[in-house]
Amino acid sequence: MNTILRNIPSVSSIISDKRIEELSQEISSENVTYLVRKHLNSLRNKKNLSSNEAQSESIVQEVLKLAKSEWPEWPIPVINGTGVILHTNLGRSPLSKSAIDASIKAAQGYSNLELDLETGKRGPRQKSISNILNQLTGSDDALVVNNTASALLLTLTSLANGGEVIISRSQAIEIGGGFRIPDVLIQSGAKLIEVGTTNRTYVQDYVNAISDNTKAILVMHASNYKVMGFTHEPKISELSEIAQNNQIPLIHDVGSGCIKDPTKYGLSPEPRPQDSIQSGSDICMFSGDKLLGGPQAGIIVGKKSYISQISKHPLARAIRIDKINLAALHATLIHYIKNEVEETIPIWQMISTTQQSLLERAQNICSQINSEISIIKTYATIGGGSLPGEKLDSYAIKIEGDTSNELSFKLRTSKNPIMSRIEDSSVLIDLMTIPPALDEVLIEELNKIVTN
Ligand SMILES: *Cc1c(COP(=O)(O)O)cnc(C)c1O
Repeated sequence: MNTILRNIPSVSSIISDKRIEELSQEISSENVTYLVRKHLNSLRNKKNLSSNEAQSESIVQEVLKLAKSEWPEWPIPVINGTGVILHTNLGRSPLSKSAIDASIKAAQGYSNLELDLETGKRGPRQKSISNILNQLTGSDDALVVNNTASALLLTLTSLANGGEVIISRSQAIEIGGGFRIPDVLIQSGAKLIEVGTTNRTYVQDYVNAISDNTKAILVMHASNYKVMGFTHEPKISELSEIAQNNQIPLIHDVGSGCIKDPTKYGLSPEPRPQDSIQSGSDICMFSGDKLLGGPQAGIIVGKKSYISQISKHPLARAIRIDKINLAALHATLIHYIKNEVEETIPIWQMISTTQQSLLERAQNICSQINSEISIIKTYATIGGGSLPGEKLDSYAIKIEGDTSNELSFKLRTSKNPIMSRIEDSSVLIDLMTIPPALDEVLIEELNKIVTN
């Protein structure tokens, strides 16, 4: 045996190091001993082991590092300077204060989740939220599930299994993460009948495709791309008439759950759940954590008979929403009832921020940073597969200096990680997606990173 191998310290000597002892107290001595053993074994099996690697100090350092990657703190809050409001990798929609409070109440103790406090008997957990959804969208009934992908699978499985579903060729889309409409239909046991062409589909195309086997008409909002130019899609009201004449449901997936009027904020129209129901869709579904501004959820609203059929399907139980998200969603919807969305829901606070206030914040930040930074006028985007191509006027801080990749790495790996975006090879930190309350932290971090 060579001397380096022979000199590898014992497990017990490493474990008795003060820093490792502290780690053991934090994590548990079994787990830390396991990690030490694992590392020492890997050293013993290593080809060309250096004498440095075999020294106590390097071993301790390495074990501390390994512990961080083995049992990391997760999730780590980040400052979103990307200007993408619904950033899927950063968790889509942040919750309002009330939504956070409600989810804490649901999480931290027992609650009347499924209990009627007056009678002391079991009560349906979704009764209150259904009432609120009916008020907001004009539906007769509602059901909330885990997310919209599962809402769509459940709806098609319960209403169209064994039959045909008619969809416009332009809407047989992929939503993201490999979630593709043709595959969802296969899973649901329904046959996809594509009608029309990629850019133009007419009412008559649907009428022609109706057969004895047709179980539903499906309209998907192509939320993550835009077909422009020579295009045509029938209106929901026109399709509703065909559905009614044939006694089949018209199912409308509107995607983002935008209940506010986006055109008031300079954005393009987005199909809204209440408009869909008003125009005659029998089932309308949308996400909780896109433009609704709440937690992850798949919201299904529509006619009572269909919702009841959907709710009774065994799959409904399998994709049930959890109590924490349900509580957060309930509180989020109350903001709409109280008409206080712009003041309370973070993404709508961002979307409705004035240019003046963004500029003032940018100036304030710049005045407190001792380095080469400037303010530029830029655009934020909605993201999250909603309103593709839409831009919101914004201001960003532009940082010069290091190469942009180096700088964005430093920002990302700082104590309070900052996500930036690179544009024309400079690093921008967009202020629209950063809550003003974080400006102080941002200044502190930037002063550490930019000046050294
Ligand atoms: C985003 C989206 C979905 C998926 O919603 P999740 O809640 O993320 O599962 C489904 N349909 C449309 C049209 C969407 O835009």
